[in-house]
Amino acid sequence: MHGKRISIEQVLVRLVLGHLFSPSVTITPWRLLATLAVPGLLLAGPVTTVPWNGHTGAVSFTYDDARPSQIPKLIPQLDSMKLKATFFISLTGTSGDFEKKKADWILAAKNGHELANHTRNHVPVPTDPAAAAIISDMATYLRAVDTIVQSVTFAYPGCGVNGKSGVGAENFVARGCGQDNYAWASQPPDWLTISGLLLNPSNVSSAVTLLNSAKSGNSWVVTVVHDVDNPAPDQYSITPADNKKMLDAAVSNALWVETFQNVAAYYRAHFVMDAATATANTGGWNLTWTSPNPKLPKRIPLRIKLAAATFGNSITVQQSGVTLPPESDGTYIIDFMKLSLSVRQGTVGIASRTVLPSRINPRLTKTGLDLDGVFGPVEVLVTDVRGARLFQGVVSNRIVPLPLPSEDLQGLLFLTLRDRNTGATVRTRVNATH
Ligand SMILES: [Zn+2]
Repeated sequence: MHGKRISIEQVLVRLVLGHLFSPSVTITPWRLLATLAVPGLLLAGPVTTVPWNGHTGAVSFTYDDARPSQIPKLIPQLDSMKLKATFFISLTGTSGDFEKKKADWILAAKNGHELANHTRNHVPVPTDPAAAAIISDMATYLRAVDTIVQSVTFAYPGCGVNGKSGVGAENFVARGCGQDNYAWASQPPDWLTISGLLLNPSNVSSAVTLLNSAKSGNSWVVTVVHDVDNPAPDQYSITPADNKKMLDAAVSNALWVETFQNVAAYYRAHFVMDAATATANTGGWNLTWTSPNPKLPKRIPLRIKLAAATFGNSITVQQSGVTLPPESDGTYIIDFMKLSLSVRQGTVGIASRTVLPSRINPRLTKTGLDLDGVFGPVEVLVTDVRGARLFQGVVSNRIVPLPLPSEDLQGLLFLTLRDRNTGATVRTRVNATH
């Protein structure tokens, strides 16, 4: 009777996995360790969030006012280093040109940069209740720019912290000005007044010092800049060379460089996640929790560890019925905003994320072929229709560099990808037509 139930589960798991992963993934039978689970028993603290997504500290670089230099000079610099930043947008009142460059801003947002609320006309935030209308006006404007813009973070124009009920009605976090480090283990004194270090043309070394302290203190820091141009056009602007110095310091300190929204959400969510309790049921555990704020982003990917003392070493982790593969270090990336997690006893033999999807949809981009959906290092061979080799080698960042700019490629390209861990191969092709 047991045997029959196991085989049905095996078939279901195989169907789900067969759709997502290479056919060579093997499914080992469930091992029902029923003695480990005691139905109804509450166990505290079985989940730990990995600090700052696995980094030694975190930094959010923020740039204000949609200043003229940001699209032509700053975004290319950030993109060349694959770093994401936050842009607090105003439309008027501070020599910005957001509406003129709206299409470019939407592209930047789709590329992972954050567009956020700095009020429409860069006005000082009035006291409550007058603040609410000004904050919600710009939030509504930004959300209509593109669905990717959530507009759930705020920066006070002119650093004047005020009208916090109105700010909090639309945002789960807000930035003021000042110099502070936020330690992983403690809540900030006020989520609606997170300090950002104001840069000026002569204090880049202070920013570098602050970034060093984020590493040594395992903490989060925030910087504030207007224009990035040479010469720096005002007292809160810096040159591209100085901005690069700041970015380089973050990279060399191996900090988590992410948007204000994403770091703050990860940080805020972890206090709830790490306090979650597991309720044992037949064959596993269930964990549920509640969101600490109604304005948190729609998704919050959270990297978590599940305590072996609670769950053992042979588990299957699911959210909304979907099995999550473990990362190569045994952690799991869950979506905090699903507000629940199921841990089943026994494994389904998913080795790690270094597996190939069974179908790849490569895209030709300016930098090469983007292997969407591929995780971890893979061996790649690209040939044209005549069999000429365009690329052969290991790709670890899922972008295959090509010998010609993508605009110069014509016709079918054939790709073979091989997973270095499992030996599994996937073949696909891409049609380069213009
Ligand atoms: Zn401003």
